[in-house]
Amino acid sequence: MPEISRSSSIVLKPNLVTLSSPEEGATTHTSIVETVIEYLQEEGFKDITIAEGSWVGASTEECYRKLGYYSIRDRYGVKLVDTKKDRFRKVSAYGIGMEISETCLNAGLLINIPVLKGHCQTLMTHAMKNLKGCLSDKSKRDFHRLGLDTPIAVLNSILHPGLTISDSICGDLDFEEGGNPVETDRMMASTDPIALDAYASTLMGYTPEDIGYIREAIALGIAKSPEWEVEELSKPVSASAKPNGTVKQLSAYTAPVEACSACYASLIRALKIFGDEGGLRKLGNKKIAIGQGYRNASPELGAGLCCRNAVKHAGGCPASAKDILEMLRSIQ
Ligand code: SF4
Repeated sequence: MPEISRSSSIVLKPNLVTLSSPEEGATTHTSIVETVIEYLQEEGFKDITIAEGSWVGASTEECYRKLGYYSIRDRYGVKLVDTKKDRFRKVSAYGIGMEISETCLNAGLLINIPVLKGHCQTLMTHAMKNLKGCLSDKSKRDFHRLGLDTPIAVLNSILHPGLTISDSICGDLDFEEGGNPVETDRMMASTDPIALDAYASTLMGYTPEDIGYIREAIALGIAKSPEWEVEELSKPVSASAKPNGTVKQLSAYTAPVEACSACYASLIRALKIFGDEGGLRKLGNKKIAIGQGYRNASPELGAGLCCRNAVKHAGGCPASAKDILEMLRSIQ
């Protein structure tokens, strides 16, 4: 824990990407957030805020309500901020501009509490990528337009959590939105989120160089020295758990161009169900177009509002897995 004044504002940034329970492997266990608050209050810190913004298309307030955060707010007397509705400051670095929540930017100490899990576009989501929840929805979309890796690295040159406490208790190793939790009962902490991500990548069977935003952080000189320090808070029950490759297989049926995570995750979910039904063979060599890069294009098959000019498409921003599945099932 870094040395800071007891009057400092402390902001806790959990991962509430979408409405999914911690047991499903998507969101931070609330017991960790509560324990951190109890520790801070015992140490005399009074100005504590929980801040988060769910992914584009999901309601942070609904996540707060259904996952018990209003009760945490009332029980401990802390503040709760939906960063989607916060005041934003425009910040620019390495030629990339973004709108960042003032609550997160102004924190005396930002404590990042991500979940270690898989991601259908970046392979892994953890400490560095969790900071995306501090952005406006507009900037989240911009990040996808810019390919995620470089803007995530740049975001980590602007926001510096003094402490990252990783919830790797049962993260889903394939899907950011959970559904296939893999129990490891593991937690980690570091004052360096990039170091923690580098270490976490090896736990998921990757190398740090496999993760694009770690590569970019090193290339841009944002990563500190490779003398990275990571402290394990508990021993894993299954250190060898790895992604099962489902997302990689299904991604062969997609043609993403600047696709947002919520949309792309829906497409992968729909393809999974379609595959379980034996439908993938109907696709043959066809791929489903998805992403902001298709706004002026007319692909054969498309998912999401951005692909509304596709010959056959499922609407929505983001598209829902249900609508995409219906479209897939209608393919002859
Ligand atoms: S429809 Fe387009 S802008 Fe909306 S979530 Fe999907 S990719 Fe993003």
